[in-house]
Amino acid sequence: MVDISLQKIQQWIWPGNCLLCTAALPAGGDLCPACEQSLPRLTAACPRCAAPDAVVNAEESICGECQKQAPAYLFARAAFRYAPPVDRLIQNLKYHGRLELSRVLGTCLAEHLQSLNESLPDVIVPVPLHSSRLRERGYNQSLEIARFVAKRLQRPLNAGDAWRVRPTAPQTELRRDQRRKNVRGAFKTGAAFTGRRVAIVDDVMTSGHTADAFAASLLRNGARDVRVWVVARA
Ligand SMILES: [Zn+2]
Ligand SMILES: [Zn+2]
Repeated sequence: MVDISLQKIQQWIWPGNCLLCTAALPAGGDLCPACEQSLPRLTAACPRCAAPDAVVNAEESICGECQKQAPAYLFARAAFRYAPPVDRLIQNLKYHGRLELSRVLGTCLAEHLQSLNESLPDVIVPVPLHSSRLRERGYNQSLEIARFVAKRLQRPLNAGDAWRVRPTAPQTELRRDQRRKNVRGAFKTGAAFTGRRVAIVDDVMTSGHTADAFAASLLRNGARDVRVWVVARA
């Protein structure tokens, strides 16, 4: 059977345009070199929670938030700051059905992770959506991003053994002090992760409480360790 996706045929006939500035891309791809250069890459960040501009003294020092309460996860890595134009790409993927954007976001995240040269986990798990939110949106943007990360890094993806069992208000709509409480006990995970080294994938990390609550749930169920991979860190 000939396996050529519609996307591949389209790219062959018409390689496409830059997703940001619409410049023609004769060689294919998602972004032109100028737009690729302009992305808000996260350079200085807390080595534990990836909070931007958090490193104050020595290179190894963790941020004040992590010192106050260490997160359940091992560490978090983010490709970008949550800033233009990455914020717009994520919002378009998440709220405007632009599923095709998951490829560029997932690929950028995977390339960033490859550049770090860290050991890879046993399994990649997208942060699950509650079934009501999934019905409303029709897809889980974290899963769509994670598919490209898993493919590029050649690690297995497991999106079937973790659930968000309680609908939660969007963290961005809550006050700082309400965010931890909002996601506490929101996740349930199966036995599939026992003894495994897990990477959680999400689109954005804001306060970090969602990732922390999900990591805690995986660890309670016997995961060996949990790291967090996000496209952008607010
Ligand atoms: Zn461009
Ligand atoms: Zn930190």
